Amino acid sequence: MTTETQHPGEAESSTQSTQSTQSTPSTASPAPSPASPSDRKRFYRLTADISNQLRFLADSGCPGFDPSPEALDILKKWEVKPTSHKRTKAETETETLDDIQRELEDCRRCALRGGRSRIVFGEGDPNARLVFVGEGPGYDEDRQGRPFVGEAGRLLTKIIEAMGETRDSVYICNVVKCRPPENRTPEPDETAACLPFLNRQLAAIQPDVICALGAVAARALLKTDRPISRLRGRFHDRDGVRLMPTFHPAFLLRNPDRKREVWEDMKKVMAAMGQKTD
Ligand code: SF4
Repeated sequence: MTTETQHPGEAESSTQSTQSTQSTPSTASPAPSPASPSDRKRFYRLTADISNQLRFLADSGCPGFDPSPEALDILKKWEVKPTSHKRTKAETETETLDDIQRELEDCRRCALRGGRSRIVFGEGDPNARLVFVGEGPGYDEDRQGRPFVGEAGRLLTKIIEAMGETRDSVYICNVVKCRPPENRTPEPDETAACLPFLNRQLAAIQPDVICALGAVAARALLKTDRPISRLRGRFHDRDGVRLMPTFHPAFLLRNPDRKREVWEDMKKVMAAMGQKTD
């Protein structure tokens, strides 16, 4: 089930100024370090939410919040990202991306099998906090077996780097793993055939935030027919994970004046992940 939600990070990003007045408890102590990877992930999600909420309150002019250098230092410690770690099956109790990729080898579950050179499974950090999901491979991706490596991919890479991330620190994949002929939109039965593999990829990665690039990805992940222009710009809840729909980079190449809207969406993603947006 999917519902539209507003999280502390979203509220902060849509209303906060760029000044850094912040608020914290007055006693300094380093953030505790949770033991297990899943606890660690929950912990950093929680501290990012608290940090965002405190900054929002401070920026809103709420009295009683302390913007001293000591308090700012505490908040900075809270915003430390979890380090990447290799998870074992026992830790995650889910299958790995390699398990899923092996199952897709020579997949013939839909008509797109006929036109592909390679299956484009996805790439990036298997423990990424942020996953980008596009529509399907194009010509360059089909040739190289990698997602988003053409002109639109280069624009996506620029967006990722402007967010302070790299292609290696996030995960990038598509709804369908085989190139549709002439880059047409995947048919509903093709999307339906491939979507379970995307769902399994997301279950294996367990990201904090999913960014759906374009209408096909947003509609497939949110099970809706609403246009992307109505979906983008705010978080939706997808089984407990925040999902931000935004325009596809290929659309931005045709409509460069819409880049500002995508950047506003990405700033909300950054805020939700506890990253600074100024
Ligand atoms: S698009 Fe997905 S379901 Fe269809 S053949 Fe390719 S891998 Fe299989």
